[in-house]
Amino acid sequence: METRISASAPLDGIEEELAPRAQRARTALSFEVIPPRHSADSAKLDALIQGLAAYQPDYVSVTSSHRSDWLEGTARLIERIAQTTSMRPIAHLACTAGTPDELRQWITQLIDAGVRGFLALRGDIPAGLDRLPDTHLQHATDLLNLIQDVADAQAYRLAAGKLALSVACYPRGHAESTSDDQDLDVLLAKQRLGADFAITQLFFDAQDYLSFAERARLAGVRIPLIPGIMPMTSVNRVRRMGELSGVAPPVDVIKQLEAARTPEEEHQIGMRLTVALARTILQVGTGGLHVYTHNDLAVTRELLKGLNL
Ligand code: FAD
Repeated sequence: METRISASAPLDGIEEELAPRAQRARTALSFEVIPPRHSADSAKLDALIQGLAAYQPDYVSVTSSHRSDWLEGTARLIERIAQTTSMRPIAHLACTAGTPDELRQWITQLIDAGVRGFLALRGDIPAGLDRLPDTHLQHATDLLNLIQDVADAQAYRLAAGKLALSVACYPRGHAESTSDDQDLDVLLAKQRLGADFAITQLFFDAQDYLSFAERARLAGVRIPLIPGIMPMTSVNRVRRMGELSGVAPPVDVIKQLEAARTPEEEHQIGMRLTVALARTILQVGTGGLHVYTHNDLAVTRELLKGLNL
């Protein structure tokens, strides 16, 4: 039995409505990791990779940004993951990382390194500009087309397993979108262009995700919308991630974290809030979670222990 997500369904007592655990699909689990700086402790990195691999996640996604020399750091970390574990790596690829020709080369190189999945993103527009330079693709939709072109050219090599294509989506709306409908239209376009699944921007309120998922289903989105969960380990982290993502944290969350008398208590309150957030989403039948690990193995373990995963 599949339990449908319904934003209007009461959350209390929902567990009784779920099929017995044996009949339910296993909760899908994936992690986001960030390429470390060159100077990073490689033993610590290996411990992170092995620690995450122990959970046998469905995939691990590796970010890319100017801090990681765009795809340089991403490719290095993916090679390390592929050499030392059986985890399936997915590379974050943003239009901001280069011209279409440069991106084509990166996609080919990453396929050579064993990557069989991409998260196609636009990336953030550099400060002071209102669009990316004309030399660059303008949207994730353009990048999906480019990846499909490369995949077509590599069809013989990919015959036994096509590339998995994923995209970003925004339960609270993307900051540049003019309406919620625009976000849904863009998500539908990404689905039409071959996206297999979407990963959400972080959010602090379960209802944001549940309402968004329901609206998306009604609009015709059928691909999984995998909730991205960020451990709320401190009020500073929550504020900072809220600023970076453009998602304002709820006043209530800030108040609860600020009420802590010690950093340890603050950590505990934040983790309790994170576990409650993830649990609410899983209890209504969502099939999986994507954890923004921030490369913190201890916190990731704490979260998964709280969720019995
Ligand atoms: P788009 O889908 O291109 O959307 C951007 C805006 O343009 C939206 O307002 C949308 O409505 C509008 N739009 C989209 N398509 C069209 C179109 N065809 N015509 C007109 N308007 C359109 N950034 C990084 O640099 N590196 C990362 O590793 C990274 N990882 C991320 C992981 C996740 C899970 C998420 C949610 C975000 C990540 N980001 C990353 C940030 C992301 O690049 C930014 O949020 C960026 O501002 C938008 O990217 P996008 O792919 O959603 O863009």
